[in-house]
Amino acid sequence: MKQLKDLVRPNIWQLAPYSSARNEYSGHEAHVFLDANENPYNAPYNRYPDPLQTEVKARLSTIKRVPAECIFLGNGSDEAIDLVYRVFCRPQIDNVVAIEPTYGMYKVCADINDVEYRPVLLDEHYQMNADKLLAACDDHTKAIWLCSPNNPTGNNLKVEEVEKVLRGFDGIVVVDEAYSDFSTVPVFRKRLAEFPNIIVLNTMSKAWGCAAIRLGMAFASKEIIGLFNKVKYPYNVNLLTQRQALEELNNTEAVTKWVSLILSERKHMIQAFRELPSCIEVYPTDANFFLAKMTDAQGIYDYLVEKGIIVRNRTRVTLCKDCLRVTIGTKSENAELLSALRS
Ligand SMILES: *Cc1c(COP(=O)(O)O)cnc(C)c1O
Repeated sequence: MKQLKDLVRPNIWQLAPYSSARNEYSGHEAHVFLDANENPYNAPYNRYPDPLQTEVKARLSTIKRVPAECIFLGNGSDEAIDLVYRVFCRPQIDNVVAIEPTYGMYKVCADINDVEYRPVLLDEHYQMNADKLLAACDDHTKAIWLCSPNNPTGNNLKVEEVEKVLRGFDGIVVVDEAYSDFSTVPVFRKRLAEFPNIIVLNTMSKAWGCAAIRLGMAFASKEIIGLFNKVKYPYNVNLLTQRQALEELNNTEAVTKWVSLILSERKHMIQAFRELPSCIEVYPTDANFFLAKMTDAQGIYDYLVEKGIIVRNRTRVTLCKDCLRVTIGTKSENAELLSALRS
């Protein structure tokens, strides 16, 4: 890995961050707070929330087995994705490399930040070739985007290939593990010490059932997390989200139960899809969704919409011609989809 200083945008490296009232004072002994121009009435909503989400991170640290100082929390993973660009990539100069197809936000954020995005095609099994990714890099490549299990394909990337990218690239490698709770493959989140250039993404939006509260995480070295904290909005995770997250994080048994229900339904749905005359192929998945190649994705999509059932039409995505992405729902939702497709 290059020196962090040589990877970070010079303006960010030199940035003196905004220092908020709650930053400058963070002890527990005080009881009169006249420092932040807050309204003294309407507790608890009158107070600014903890800018570094200390309690939530402490709880997450135990659950995720990552030191609290190696955790960044944001308004969804999307905030962390955007921060990778804002911290590392000089607009119109630097570039990033990514697997293709993958999650659309990596490219959208590249476009917003005016950073060149270099997609590298996966093979016919939706697997990546590390050498091909590394060959797409040049001196201005600051980050490589990997997603495992990948969206919209559903499969895990081969661990050895991911390791090869991590060892062979001198910049930042982001491994988005948004769906890892549905997979049994060992996670990169637990290997931060081994790879100083890794950023792992997780979210409360999928297995934790909390898409509405908007809470995403990045796990990385404390130096990288320090840079994210310097650039983020001071109060990027609001009080309601922090509170609800703490509540939900005590619900680990519920998550385990949901995941096992979803996995058993996934198995059933894949079998049922394979028997549909309109289904050509169901691709292997390690996520809470699967990608299916159909005879006519657009026609089937439109037909389902008529019936009030919405799946994701991925037919215009590279390597996904005539593919639908189907999220696993409740038993009855899944049954409704199957019965619509059978009639
Ligand atoms: C759903 C998803 C996320 C989650 O994004 P949030 O902003 O945390 O809701 C992140 N990465 C991938 C690949 C996803 O599919």
